[in-house]
Amino acid sequence: MSGDFRETLYTVDAQGRRKWVYSEFVPGRFTIPRGLVAYSLMLIYLVMPWITIGGKQGVHLDIFNRRFVFFGAEFWATDSYFLFLILVSMAFSLFFFTALFGRLWCGWACPETVFLEFMFRPIERLIEGSAAQRRRLDQQPWNLEKIVKKLLKHSISAFFAWIIATTALAYFIGRDPLIEMISDWPYKNPVPFAMTVAMMGLMAFQFGWFREQFCTVLCPYARFQSVLMDSNSIVVGYDVVRGEPRGKVRKREDGESTGDCVDCGLCVRVCPTGIDIRNGLQLECVACTACADACDSIMEKVGRPKGLVRYDTEDRLLGRSLTRKLLRPRPIVYGVLLTICLSTFAYLLSVRQESEFQVLRGALDEPFTVLDDGRVSNHLHVRVTNKSSSPAEYTFSVTPKDIELITPLVPFSLHAGQISTTPIFLNFDPKILVDGKYTAEVNIAGGAGYSDKQTITLLGPGK
Ligand code: SF4
Ligand code: SF4
Repeated sequence: MSGDFRETLYTVDAQGRRKWVYSEFVPGRFTIPRGLVAYSLMLIYLVMPWITIGGKQGVHLDIFNRRFVFFGAEFWATDSYFLFLILVSMAFSLFFFTALFGRLWCGWACPETVFLEFMFRPIERLIEGSAAQRRRLDQQPWNLEKIVKKLLKHSISAFFAWIIATTALAYFIGRDPLIEMISDWPYKNPVPFAMTVAMMGLMAFQFGWFREQFCTVLCPYARFQSVLMDSNSIVVGYDVVRGEPRGKVRKREDGESTGDCVDCGLCVRVCPTGIDIRNGLQLECVACTACADACDSIMEKVGRPKGLVRYDTEDRLLGRSLTRKLLRPRPIVYGVLLTICLSTFAYLLSVRQESEFQVLRGALDEPFTVLDDGRVSNHLHVRVTNKSSSPAEYTFSVTPKDIELITPLVPFSLHAGQISTTPIFLNFDPKILVDGKYTAEVNIAGGAGYSDKQTITLLGPGK
């Protein structure tokens, strides 16, 4: 193994200039499953804001109105604990899957990989050809062939980037307003137009030029994944025991004792981050399995067993263990925390109501007043939240019935997602008080069959 690989960034030369990666494409057993996952994720992303579930946009992140719709379920700013649980669950699931399966996310589901490897790179291959043809095209002077190919590649890529950018806007602005905006002149809707252009520019930069640098230089997940993994996590790796000492096929034919690696270098040439998997686990490896597929194709040709580069644990690849230990403290702890978060989320979702109300005491320095007719009055506030997607009307009542309830707004109307407070006055005969207190209930009814009650303590003279 080369010893200086950890000090070297493969995509930067000694002068600090970018070394462009012309990764070769070699299909193999992971190509179809990865493609299926990637195109399914793309489909979900591209379809969700345009479909209707339960009368609502599939997914709508309406930040301006603090309203969020996920698969027909609507959440408001008051439901921020759901957002918190979603974010924490996402973090724990990333920890859990990384501890078990290494950078599975990077190689199979990260938008960077999905869009680059399954949308923009195939377009590039289709127009500019194989890695060697692409390298030649970039090195040759500008001529008609180069201009046409580059223009075609960038035009088709820009079209797909426009679809991705427009879909992103539909998630935030909402598809109906967006359709209205894009059917009109851009100057009439300068902000969404500028956002679309900015997103397309960002994608041109990322998928057209910056590419693997994002994973190797910028991505925070790549930085902390080594803390989440251990030597029993499943990674894409090279079987050092089987492969070394590496040597050309001829060497073994000449009677030399060599490992299974024929030192063809194909695993390096297919790597989108330009690294050599045979150097061991590296921060730059996005676990894309391209080297595993490439090596399998070589093993097939030279008649040796496949899987010299494969999914396995570091311990097994280095010959330190023969078994895989999936049940380990780290994934168990992450798994338990993830289960707690998901169960809490499911429970809160199952008991969630379309409205919420809360009775608060009015003036704390004057908890009651004595009316001219001798009765006592308590001043309270009722705060109501309408979490539904339509306007709702609420009415209040009090138990027992001989307590008089006075409220200025009957019924109390709220539009969708509104939170508002209204005062109420509870007037009663002081004879019901015991030591200056009496327990009563404030009831609310309205919305779509919503009803609830809250016990309160009425206060008065007598202590
Ligand atoms: S080393 Fe292999 S798995 Fe890792 S990024 Fe390169 S090709 Fe993909
Ligand atoms: S593709 Fe396989 S055989 Fe060829 S250099 Fe890589 S590990 Fe060795």
